[in-house]
Order: sequence, then structure tokens, then C-alpha cells
Amino acid sequence: MNLILLGAPGAGKGTQAELLTQKLSIPAISTGNMLREAMANGTELGKKAKKFMDEGYLVPDELILGIVADRVAMPDCANGFILDGVPRTLAQAEALEEKGIKIDHVVSIEVDDSEIEGRMTGRRVCSKCGASYHVAANPPRAEGVCDACGGALIVRKDDAPETVRHRLEVYHASTEVLKDFYGKLGRLRLVNGSQSIEGANEDILKAIGAKV
Ligand code: ADP
Ligand code: AMP
Repeated sequence: MNLILLGAPGAGKGTQAELLTQKLSIPAISTGNMLREAMANGTELGKKAKKFMDEGYLVPDELILGIVADRVAMPDCANGFILDGVPRTLAQAEALEEKGIKIDHVVSIEVDDSEIEGRMTGRRVCSKCGASYHVAANPPRAEGVCDACGGALIVRKDDAPETVRHRLEVYHASTEVLKDFYGKLGRLRLVNGSQSIEGANEDILKAIGAKV
């Protein structure tokens, strides 16, 4: 099963991708995590992406398409994959189609803008594996430490309130149109993301016809 998670920044894509990975036994592919890793390793890609990411702009499509095509071609994606944070523009969605990367379901996690800032100020992410936590809604077992890998939890630079506001504008201007794109292809499912993490997860599983 090849799945895309759509939604505004902070809608819960990363959180849900992790849960779905465990339940469906297919990998989650987060372009945001891949770019942050590239930045941490100081690669060419990381250097090119840094200024866009820090200021909440989208990274140019050509940088994204190469890394996604390479990743979904890896053997662990043979039975399916979950795309988290990609595609984010019409050009990226069209390129996936042109490359023959088949998508079965697109789930848009719907959360109102007014709820996003609180989620972002409380978000903590693992500096090693990228797992996402929230100080109140989804705290780690030990403060500051990732449950999954023991890595240190950090605050993302682009989660500063003014950058979050800009990222929401970018979402409405460039990414939201993908709901129309996949709606016309008959693949779009909307899920209420303004409920508990477990509730949203159940709704996503039902929306894609998987066992809850
Ligand atoms: P995205 O990947 O869409 O940017 P995340 O999965 O990182 O979003 O979630 C953003 C923040 O909101 C994180 O701190 C996460 O723990 C929290 N969060 C995710 N889902 C929910 C939910 N259903 N209710 C409350 N907080 C949530
Ligand atoms: P995320 O971790 O998904 O919130 O992404 C963090 C940042 O990485 C975004 O604000 C963009 O700067 C960049 N990014 C991640 N995925 C993409 C993408 N598919 N297209 C363009 N930029 C991206």
C-alpha cells in the first residue's frame, strides 16, 4: 500500500506516520527528516536546503524529487510506503505520477490553523531519529529523551511562532491545492486531526480500508 499523508505543518503527519509504520509494517518517508539529516551531516543537499527550511520556505522541487525517487526505489519500499510531507506542490505531485510512483490513498489530516501554533510551541523532536513528541499531548517517558532511540529531544528552529505563521501561509498557497488534485483522481480521504492521536489513527486506518 502506497500512502500519502497531507496536512498543514503540525497537523500530525509525522506522529501518524510513525504509528502507521508499526501497524502496516511499511516505512515512513519524511522529506523534512531527510533534509534535517542532510543538514546535520553537512552534505551539499543540506547546505542548499538550510536557508529555505530555516525561514519556512519550501525547498526547490528538483532537490526533493531526486531524494524521493531514490528512497521509494529501495527494497524496504517493495510492499508499500508512507510519504510524510511530500508532495508539497503540484509540480511534485505531477512528477510522482510521471515517474510511475503509484499512490493508492491520500489522507489529508485536517486541523484548523488556530490549533497549530500551540502544537508547534510544544513540539519536541528527536535529534537522532526525527520522532515527534509534544510536552503535553504526547510526552516522552523520560523528559528530553526519545522513547524510540534514546536520542536527545530538541526544539526545531522553524517551530518559532513567526516562522510557523509563514509556513501556514506557504501551506495554503502551495500545498492545499493537492487536495483538489488527488480528489479529482478519486484517491483523497479527509480525516479529522483535531481529536486524540489514537482517534485520528483509527480514522486513518478506516479511511484506507486497513484493520483498526
Ligand atoms: P507534522 O508532521 O504534520 O508537522 P507532528 O506529527 O510533528 O506534525 O505533530 C505536531 C505536534 O502536534 C507534535 O508536537 C505532536 O506531538 C502534536 N500532535 C500530533 N497529533 C496530535 C493530536 N491529535 N492532538 C494533539 N497534539 C498532537
Ligand atoms: P516538515 O518536517 O515536513 O515540516 O518540513 C520542514 C521543512 O522542510 C519545510 O518547511 C520545507 O522547508 C522543507 N521540506 C520538507 N519537505 C518538503 C517538500 N516536499 N518540498 C519542499 N520543501 C520541503
